[in-house]
Amino acid sequence: MGIDRDDTNQPSLKPGDEAAPGTPGSGEDVCPDCAGTGTLQGESCARCGGTGIVQEGIGGG
Ligand SMILES: [Zn+2]
Repeated sequence: MGIDRDDTNQPSLKPGDEAAPGTPGSGEDVCPDCAGTGTLQGESCARCGGTGIVQEGIGGG
């Protein structure tokens, strides 16, 4: 009996994400486009998906 994993259920990355949530070496950072407001020019920020947070790679090359 192995671990029942649904490999088709990929995490949905936002355009501003550099790594999937939970990826070692990555972390949340304030979206540089909307400065963490999640809104850009009255619309939902596309880079962070309106969350104001993007996943940034840390220490990567
Ligand atoms: Zn944003």
